[in-house]
Amino acid sequence: MKRAARLFGVLLIALIAALLVRTAMYRPVPQPIPPAPSVAVDTSSAAARLAGAIRIPTISHQDPARIDEDAFLGLHAYLEENFPRAHGVLEREVVNDLSLLYTWRGSDPALPAVLMMAHLDVVPVDPGTQDDWVHPPFSGAIADGYVWGRGTLDVKSGVTGLMEAAELLVAANFQPKRTIYFAFGHDEEVGGKGGAKAIAERLGSRGVTLELVLDEGGAIVRGVVPGVEEPIAMVGIAEKGYVSLELTVEVTGGHSSMPPSHTASGILSAAVTRLEAEPFEPTLRYSGRFFSYVAPKMPFVRRVPFANLWLFGPVITSVLSSKPAMSASIRTTTAVTMIEGGVKANVLPTEAKAIVNFRIYPGETVQTVQTAVTEKVADARVKVEVLRDGEAFGTDPSPTSDVDGPGFALIERTVLAVAQQEGMVVAPYLVVGATDSRYFTGLTKNVYRFLFNRMEGEDLARIHGTNERIAVEDYAKTVAFYHEILKGTLAL
Ligand SMILES: [Zn+2]
Repeated sequence: MKRAARLFGVLLIALIAALLVRTAMYRPVPQPIPPAPSVAVDTSSAAARLAGAIRIPTISHQDPARIDEDAFLGLHAYLEENFPRAHGVLEREVVNDLSLLYTWRGSDPALPAVLMMAHLDVVPVDPGTQDDWVHPPFSGAIADGYVWGRGTLDVKSGVTGLMEAAELLVAANFQPKRTIYFAFGHDEEVGGKGGAKAIAERLGSRGVTLELVLDEGGAIVRGVVPGVEEPIAMVGIAEKGYVSLELTVEVTGGHSSMPPSHTASGILSAAVTRLEAEPFEPTLRYSGRFFSYVAPKMPFVRRVPFANLWLFGPVITSVLSSKPAMSASIRTTTAVTMIEGGVKANVLPTEAKAIVNFRIYPGETVQTVQTAVTEKVADARVKVEVLRDGEAFGTDPSPTSDVDGPGFALIERTVLAVAQQEGMVVAPYLVVGATDSRYFTGLTKNVYRFLFNRMEGEDLARIHGTNERIAVEDYAKTVAFYHEILKGTLAL
C-alpha cells in the first residue's frame, strides 16, 4: 500500500515536471521585424479617393431588380478617373455588366498568376439605424482621423487600396513577372454568383492557373485571445461550407379531439430536440494550430494547457464549446432557423417543416452532413433533404491552404514589415463565414483571406453595422501592404 502510494507520488511529480518543462519550452520563436517598406503613400489624398468611392452607394440586394446599376457603373468610371496610370497599363474587362476584372500582364506568362480580390458592393444600412451614424453612411466624411461610411472596412478599402498600389507601382515602372489579376465582384454580399463565380469561370476557361489568391477575411485583431496583449494578424487558410436542410414530416390529419400520441409537429419537435442535443463532434484541427502560434505569447500559467494539448485537449474543447463564436471554429454548427406546422388551433397538422442551417467544418461535406443528420434524427417519418430554395444549395468547405508555402510566407513577412509592431504574430485560422475566394479553389491550392486592417474592441460590430469607418493612418498601411505584396510576387 505504502509502496503504491509512493509510486503514485513519484509519477505525479514526474507528470507535473513534464507539464512545466513543456510549458517553459513552449515560447514564441522571436521573429525579427523586417525593415519597413519605403513606399511613400500620400495618406490624405489616398483617404480622399477612398472617401469618394464610399459616396457611391453600390448596395447589394437579394432581388436583382432593386440593384442600382448606375451606382456600379459610376464606381467603374470613378476608378478609371482616379487611377489613370493603372488604367493605362492594366487591361480592364467588365464581367456580367457590373463586375470588374483587371489583368496586369507579367513578363513570364507561363508562370501561374496572382489574383487579388475585393468586391464593389456593400450591404444596405439597416432601416432605422440611419440616425445612429455619427456621419451619414454614404457621406464618405473624413473626420477625427477616420474615413467614415459603409464599405470603408468591407471592402472598398480593398478595391481602392489595390488601385492605389497599382498606381504607385506603374508610376515607378514596375513590371510584374507573374500576371496579376484584380477581381472585383459586384455581388459578394448576396453570394457572388454573378461576379466572382463568373470571373473564376472566365479565367478557368482561359486555362489560367494561379499561384496565389488573396481575398478579404482575416484582419489584425487585439484583445480577442485572453492573455495575449500583442496584435494578431489572422490569415484565413480555409473556410467552412454551408447547407440548409429541410426536415419534413407528413402524416394524415384529423380532428384535434382524437389525436394520436404524436402529431406531425410533435414528431418534428422531437427530431429537432435530438439534433440540438447531439451537436457535431468538435476537433481542434484549426484552433489547435492557431493556438500554436498565439498561445506561446500567454503568461506561464495560461500557457500550461496549450503546451500540453495531449492532456488538456478535451478541457480546451469544452471551454471553446461554451462560447458560440469559439464553438463555430471547432465543429460543424447546427442552427434551427425556421419551423412551421399546422394551420388552425383544432386541426391536426398534416405537415410540419423545419429548416436547419449547418456551417460545415472542413473534412465533412454537404453529403456527409445530410447523412449524419438523418442518423441523429433516427426517425424514418422525418424526411431530411437539402433545401433548394432559389440560390441556396449548399457549398462544401474549401480545401486548406498551405502555411509552409511561399504564399503564406510572403503575407507573413509583409504584414510584419508594414505593421512594424513588436511581438506581433501572424497566425492561420479557419474562416467561419464565406468569402468570394471559394470560387477560385479550383484554380489554385493557395487561397488566403486577409485584409490589412486593424480591428479592436467594438470595430468588429461596425462591419455590416453602424458607424463603419477606417483610420486614415490604417488605410495608408492597407495601401502599403498591397504595394509590398504586389512587389513581392517577383520573388514568388
Ligand atoms: Zn466583404
